[in-house]
This record gives sequence, structure tokens and C-alpha cells, in this order.
Amino acid sequence: MSDVHVTIIGAGVIGLAIASRFSENRKGIIMLEKNQKYGMETSSRNSEVIHAGIYYKPGSLKALLCVEGRDRLYELCDKRGITYRKCGKLITATSVPELQKLDSILANGRSNGVRLDMLTKDQVLDLEPNIVSVGAIHSPLTGVVSVHDLMDFLHHSALERGVTVQPRCEVTSIGKRGRDFEITVSENGTVSSFTSEIVINAAGLHSDSVAAMAGIDIDSAGYRLVYAKGSYFAVAPAKAGLVSRLVYPVPQNEGIGVHAVLDWGGRLKFGPDVEYLPDRKLDYSVEDEKRKSFGASIRKILPQISDDDITPDMSGIRPKLQRKGEPAKDFVIVHEKERGMAGLVNLIGIESPGLTSCLAIARYVEDLLA
Ligand SMILES: Cc1cc2nc3c(=O)[nH]c(=O)nc-3n(C[C@H](O)[C@H](O)[C@H](O)COP(=O)(O)OP(=O)(O)OC[C@H]3O[C@@H](n4cnc5c(N)ncnc54)[C@H](O)[C@@H]3O)c2cc1C
Repeated sequence: MSDVHVTIIGAGVIGLAIASRFSENRKGIIMLEKNQKYGMETSSRNSEVIHAGIYYKPGSLKALLCVEGRDRLYELCDKRGITYRKCGKLITATSVPELQKLDSILANGRSNGVRLDMLTKDQVLDLEPNIVSVGAIHSPLTGVVSVHDLMDFLHHSALERGVTVQPRCEVTSIGKRGRDFEITVSENGTVSSFTSEIVINAAGLHSDSVAAMAGIDIDSAGYRLVYAKGSYFAVAPAKAGLVSRLVYPVPQNEGIGVHAVLDWGGRLKFGPDVEYLPDRKLDYSVEDEKRKSFGASIRKILPQISDDDITPDMSGIRPKLQRKGEPAKDFVIVHEKERGMAGLVNLIGIESPGLTSCLAIARYVEDLLA
């Protein structure tokens, strides 16, 4: 008999969603978190956007889980009073060549079953009179959610249903003990071990290292992560009212472009850019030197904003499976039966739209283990 039934490593929004879902009909669940509180890494450092599912490759986990997760998330927010706003989003073309690019984005989004409308310049300016546009895609189902409200709810519901949440508890090794796993943890310098029948690796930026602890060769498995920082700049309060919904550029190279983000304090921010971190250091500082490049990106959409109107704000770090310049890769969510590790589920590369997808990911993991 194992000491616990399910061990969830990592209390970000993904681990919390899994803990909340699993606790509906399982007992003996423990969630381990190395920081002093849940949600202190990527889950509290993002745009808080509920993505509609526009950009992802049709049939991919990102596309399927984003669309399912979006609907589940809106339903949960309505039912449980979690703060959200279905504000909608525009992807605005600022030139005729960009307008042509919108067609393929529209077709991709519609293949994913996303409701989208193509708007003329006049229709765009009716919605957002201050932005530059020669036409745009309107996504009425895109919104923003208070990720802190969401995580508080998921944490509370897991606790209420008997999940043990262990902060300041870092998993340092994972071994095999018969059909179970032996997990070693360090808690305030004290090392101890216990056995668990099921282990779910939801360790975000560290999920590749946790998979390696279980004995997986993360290079041949394709699990090794690279880090890509995304920084944000905040707009001066006097200009925060220039847009009232999310406004995105047409994607250029990597990522979906520096876009307008509306936060819960009524602030307007722009971000995130994409900066690969070769040394994988968790450095969240936002360099003032980026002001000029941010200013230029922002002015493509909102010419009223000068470099003096923006100040460095927060940043987050994406756990990416693709290297710089490579095409986007899908989420890895695998029950490692074929590696002889039945009961171990690895979640790797859960970058955007991970927040949107969290409830669908929890459902998917449960199905994998059924
Ligand atoms: C800049 C940026 C913008 C984004 N914008 C959006 C958006 O608008 N919409 C959207 O849907 N998604 C967005 N995302 C993606 C989203 O934030 C992530 O997909 C999601 O937060 C991932 O959650 P997680 O639980 O996997 O990871 P995390 O929140 O990082 O949680 C993992 C946890 O595991 C813990 N941990 C790690 N190793 C160990 C260990 N050995 N022992 C114990 N605990 C451990 C960590 O301390 C951490 O708390 C964005 C991401 C970034 C970086």
C-alpha cells in the first residue's frame, strides 16, 4: 500500500486545477509546492487572457484544450463568482499586406471552431476609435480573468475536499518502488520520503528537471525546456482609457505580438515581448532599455503613446519546448506507461494558452489515468 494515492508536484494554476478536479472523487491527494505559497511563478505572471483558440494548429492539444478550457472557465467563473470580463479582442492590421495575413489567421481560428468576425476599418473604428487599423479580426469570446481569484478558488475547493497542500516543500528525487513511486522532498532543510501510486508533474518551468528525476532522458524524449521571458510596460494612467478591449497586432515573428492588456486595477499595459534566456535564470527584471522598442511596437497600434508615457512593469517566463526560431510545439501531456512508469503523468511546455486551458487539462489528465 502506498502512503498517498496521488502526488501533484507544483501548485500553479495547472496543479491547482488538477487537485480541484481529482478531489471530486479521489482521496489521499497531496500537492507539493517549493515556494511559500501557491501560484508564485508563471501563473501569476501573465496577461490573464482567456484565449478563444485562434492561433493554434487545428487538432493540437493547444487548440482542443484551449477551446474546451475557455468554455469551462467562463462557466466556472459564472457559477463561482470569479472575476472576469468577456471584453473581446481585435487583431488589427495596420497595412494592406497585414490585412492579407488576417485571412489565414481567420481560417485557422475557424478550423478550431472559434467564432470570429472580419471587420472593416470603419467597423473597427466604431469599436476602438484611437487605434490604427485598415481592418481587423474581432473575437467576441476572448476575455480576461483574475488569475488570483481563480487560483484562490481552486486552492480553496481542493482544501475543502481534503487535499493536503504542502508549501515550502521541494521534490528532490523520484524513484520506483514496485508499482509505486518513492518521492523524496526537502522541507525547510529536512529531507523525507514517502510512496505514491500516482505522480503528476505540473512543475511548470522545472517540469523537465522533475521528469529527469524520474529517470527520463529528457533530451531523447524531447522534454528539455528553454526559457523565454516576456516583459510588459505600463501606460501612464492619463492614457489608459485609449482602448477598451484587448488589441493585438498581426503576429510577425515569434509569439502573438506585443498587445494591449487590461489589468484589474484599470491599468493599460503592453506586452509580452519574447526574450530567450540562455542561462535559464529566473530573472524577472524589466530593462528600461526596452522602452524604445516597446514604444515603437505600441505606436504601430496606438500612435498617441510616446516613450515617456510608458514604464517598465512586470515580466513572466515561458517554459518553451521550441528553440528560438523553431515553429511552435504542442503541449506535452503524457501518461508514461510506455516508459514503464504507469501512474506518472508529465506536463511539459505548458506555456500559453495554459491558463485558459487549465480546467480542460485537468479533465484530460484524469482521462489519461482512467
Ligand atoms: C508572459 C506570459 C504571458 C502569458 N499569458 C497567458 C494568457 O494571457 N493566457 C493564457 O491562457 N496563458 C498565458 N500564459 C501561460 C500561463 O501563464 C501558463 O501556461 C500557466 O500559468 C502555467 O501554469 P503551471 O501551473 O504549469 O506553472 P507554474 O505557475 O509555473 O507552476 C508550477 C509550480 O511548480 C512548482 N515547482 C517546480 N518545481 C518543483 C519541485 N521540484 N517541487 C515542488 N514544487 C515545484 C513551482 O514553484 C511553481 O509554483 C502566459 C505565460 C507567460 C510567461
